[in-house]
Amino acid sequence: MNLLDVPALLWVVCFQMGLYAVMWLLALALLQESRRAVAHWVGFMVLLCAGFVLAGLRGEPRHWWAYNGTNVIIMTGFALMRRGTERFMGLPASDREQVLTLAPAIALLAWLGPGRDDAPLRIVAAYWMQAWIMVRMLWRIRPALIAEFGRATMLGLVGPGSLLAGVLLLLGLRQVLAWPEPTEMQATNAANFAVMLTYLAGSALFCFGFLTLVTQRLVVRLREASMRDSLTGLFNRRAMNEALQRAWLRHRRTHEPLAALVIDLDRFKHVNDSAGHAAGDAVLVRVAAVLQVQLRAEDVLGRAGGEEFWLLLPATPLDHALQLAERLRSCVEAAALGTTCSIGVALAAPGDAEVGQLVARADAALYRAKDAGRNRVEAG
Ligand code: GH3
Ligand code: MG
Ligand code: MG
Repeated sequence: MNLLDVPALLWVVCFQMGLYAVMWLLALALLQESRRAVAHWVGFMVLLCAGFVLAGLRGEPRHWWAYNGTNVIIMTGFALMRRGTERFMGLPASDREQVLTLAPAIALLAWLGPGRDDAPLRIVAAYWMQAWIMVRMLWRIRPALIAEFGRATMLGLVGPGSLLAGVLLLLGLRQVLAWPEPTEMQATNAANFAVMLTYLAGSALFCFGFLTLVTQRLVVRLREASMRDSLTGLFNRRAMNEALQRAWLRHRRTHEPLAALVIDLDRFKHVNDSAGHAAGDAVLVRVAAVLQVQLRAEDVLGRAGGEEFWLLLPATPLDHALQLAERLRSCVEAAALGTTCSIGVALAAPGDAEVGQLVARADAALYRAKDAGRNRVEAG
């Protein structure tokens, strides 16, 4: 095959867009993530594929669908791409702007005939419209990309994306300079070869770039979920164990004091027995909130299981830890939730061989608080 044989390349592009449509369909079915955006991208790829099929059918006599129809369909595909991508980034819809810019362009393409005389205007309108949609999309998603995925990812997408928009702009310019000779994309020449490469590279970049972002978002969500207690939204036991380990290593390095609190609700079984399990759950959620508002940003609060909470206080000496514990105890009591709490407090000691000993001492202190009548703070 002659590489510069553009009509043959048209079918390659078409085939690739079809494959990408299938890929997005699979993502829609299997990943269950960002589904509305992904559905838009399925549409984008289907329309690009259809547009290139029509372009492949170009010939004499000139049919409106093969010429103007191709442009209308590809342009609409671009609009779907922008809509899906903005949705993916959680931006407010830009439907009004899209309709206002797209409608006149489509009206122009509908009004123009498929003949050679009308071709230059049609070609300029088609390329520049695609460039415009691309530029507007990149401009709008830029801040959201930085916020969610970081500057490097933004540059990795917006950089090549802008380059592609630039190529589309130049293709329009090429037609302006060649006026009145039409520079249609089915003719075999080096420039059209570059057009095909642009669509191949652009669609590959788009699909793999955004598929990576969809997956990345999914991974972040799963990681976050694996560390959270589903009832209270606090860290779960696994996350607390990791936090304890990290704080322990830091304590060993810096010798800053490290305090741990074990907080257990008093006679919680009674709350469940008298008010029901659902009411008990609601009390756990309220207690979590009551505790959380009293804390500094660096304190780590988690639900270790049942009605037991762990609190980790980095760089906190014993007297401060005891003061905070007393404040937490009185806040839970003041919340009048039908339960109070007992708290065991302990400080990491030079003789501790591992962080488990710190938690064990706080636990032992908690049992002394229970034995001493509950609704109290004890130090271990
Ligand atoms: P103590 O003062 O000695 O701690 O008494 P207690 O009743 O709080 O302690 P016990 O360990 O006997 O009972 C804990 C209760 O906490 C039993 C269980 O039904 C309840 N519980 C544990 N997890 C949950 C939960 O997720 N939701 C609800 N509603 N109750 C829970
Ligand atoms: Mg209890
Ligand atoms: Mg308990």
